[in-house]
Parts: sequence; structure tokens; C-alpha cells
Amino acid sequence: MSESYDRERTVAFGAVQAAAELCQSVRDGMSEVLEKDDRTPVTVADFGSQALICRALLSEFPNDPVIGEEDSSALRDPENADVRDAVIEHVRAHHDNATAEGVYSWIDHGTAREYSDRFWTVDPIDGTKGFVRGDQYAIALALIVEGVPQVAALCCPYLPDDLDAEAPDTRGQAFLAVRGDGAYRRPLQSNDEPVPIHTTDTTDPSQGRFTESFESSHSSHDLASETGDRLSITADPLRIDSQAKYAVVAWGHADIYLRLPQPGTNYTERIWDHAAGSLVVEAAGGTVTDVHGNPLDFSHGPLLKDNTGVIATNGPVHDQVLDALHAAAE
Ligand code: AMP
Ligand code: MG
Repeated sequence: MSESYDRERTVAFGAVQAAAELCQSVRDGMSEVLEKDDRTPVTVADFGSQALICRALLSEFPNDPVIGEEDSSALRDPENADVRDAVIEHVRAHHDNATAEGVYSWIDHGTAREYSDRFWTVDPIDGTKGFVRGDQYAIALALIVEGVPQVAALCCPYLPDDLDAEAPDTRGQAFLAVRGDGAYRRPLQSNDEPVPIHTTDTTDPSQGRFTESFESSHSSHDLASETGDRLSITADPLRIDSQAKYAVVAWGHADIYLRLPQPGTNYTERIWDHAAGSLVVEAAGGTVTDVHGNPLDFSHGPLLKDNTGVIATNGPVHDQVLDALHAAAE
């Protein structure tokens, strides 16, 4: 029987939602810096988000290592006092007695790098380019036990309820998944019980649509387009940043997520970019592998060193997508 992980799911879901609130409040204040192409806001939100999430994990599961994307070294540099003060101010909206030393220590709780039998991985802002551009981004947290994600909490603060609307009324989704117990969603602004979500039941890929990175340097748009042609897909790809791509597949708004390394490059994916999202898709009924059809292997510390790229699908079309990709790549 699968474990229920009741406490883990509650703590993880609460932590990513608090972090999402912090990130949105930073982004709401960043309109003027956008014009200067200043990266300060993303830095403030990155540190603040990791601080909140790690603080929650430290207090509830003090013995669990956390492999997170950030560490506090840049924040301790006196040259970055403005950033540090902004981080502390945003964290204090959640913990009113937070100090600089406290915030550093929370962030650095997320600097584990060794694999262990039970650990968390956190991406405090996934899709930083989307965050700065005013587009999609995500906050992602997963518990990995014996190399396999078991609990996932994923917030997409800018993901609309209606993905095809030109001016959506509401934005912000929170996703939760526990292996063996399904995947769930609720609007970020609601206190309702999260409701189950499922991948599509499309068996004919030509009727489906795929999602891929907005940034072509993160995933080959050309190879995806060639793969889509071989599957006779006519719908335009949904190009969005971050693990929101996994969320839209899990939620049934796309059938396929393609993450295809640019030919001739050898980028190694990071676990925090995939642990939460891949579990949300699998728990919603989908299938996730790398481009060779191998399962993602989360047992090597921060890197998915035995995997190349990612293919996530609704499930039924997975093998057809792999075949089409291999034919397209030849
Ligand atoms: P996305 O928003 O899905 O395009 O991906 C954002 C993530 O891509 C970031 O969190 C980075 O860790 C990761 N990334 C950075 N460079 C690359 C690359 N060359 N190929 C694939 N992923 C990358
Ligand atoms: Mg990331």
C-alpha cells in the first residue's frame, strides 16, 4: 500500500502557496524595473521564496535534507544590502520577527547536494525568464523517497483558469500530487478543497496539442515542430515558461510536453526543474520519460545525469510521440 504522506502534503502545499504570494507581491512591484531590465526582483523573489519554503520544511521535518536551487552567499555580500533588505521585508510579511541571519540560515537549509533516501527538492522560482517577462513561472517542491518523487506541490501564480482566453478573468493555480493518490488543483485565491485533475484521454495524437519552452535555447522548437508534423498535429504549440507545462498536461489542457535538447548540445537537466511537475503529470494519469523513453532518475543529487530531455504525455500517446521524435531526429 502506498504511504499517505498526509503531513508532508499539507506542509508542502502550504509552503508553496505562501511562496507564491511572496513572488506575486514582488512581481506586482516590479513594473518600473522591467524597463531597465534589472534582475533584482527575480533575485529578491528567488531568495524570499526559498527562505519561506525551507523554513517550513526545517520546522516540520528538520531531519530531511533539501536540495534547492539557491544559497545565501550573494545575499551576504554587503554590496547587495538593498536586495537583502527587500528579501527580509517580504519574508517579514509572513514571519514578522525574521532577521537577516534567520533568513540566511533558512535559505542555506536548501543547499544539500548529496543524494539521500529521503529528501526534498525546491525550485523557488522556476521559469525566471517568464517571471521577468511578466509571463508564466512556477514554485516547485517535491519529496523524493528512494529516488522517486512521492509528494509534489506546484504553484503557477500566473496560469489562467481559461488558457485560451485573451484576457482571462482569474489567474493563479495550485497543484498537489501524491503518488498513488492522484493529482489535484485549486485556484490559488481559493480555500476550496483541491479537486482531482486528469490528463486527456486522446489516443490519436493528431487531435492533440503540445506545449514546449518559450525559450528555444531550452528546447528545440524545430525538432518539436518536425515531431508534431510526423504526428499530423495541426494545433499551434503552447509555448510557456516553467513547470506550468507539466501542469497544463496534467490538467488536460495539452496532451504532450516536449523538452528536446538543441541538437549538438549536452545540457543536463536539474532535478528541481522536473521532480514536482513530473509527479503531477504521472499522478494525473500521464507518462513521463526522457527522450529515450527512460524513466527520470532522481537518485544522483541535483542532476538528472542519466537522462536527456523530457517527454511528458497524457499516457495513451506516449509511445507514438517517442517513435515520431526518433524518426524526426534521424
Ligand atoms: P523553461 O521555463 O521550461 O524553459 O525552463 C526553465 C529552466 O530551464 C530553468 O530553471 C533552467 O534550470 C533550465 N535551463 C537552463 N538552461 C537550459 C538549457 N540549455 N536547456 C534546458 N534547460 C535549461
Ligand atoms: Mg528552474
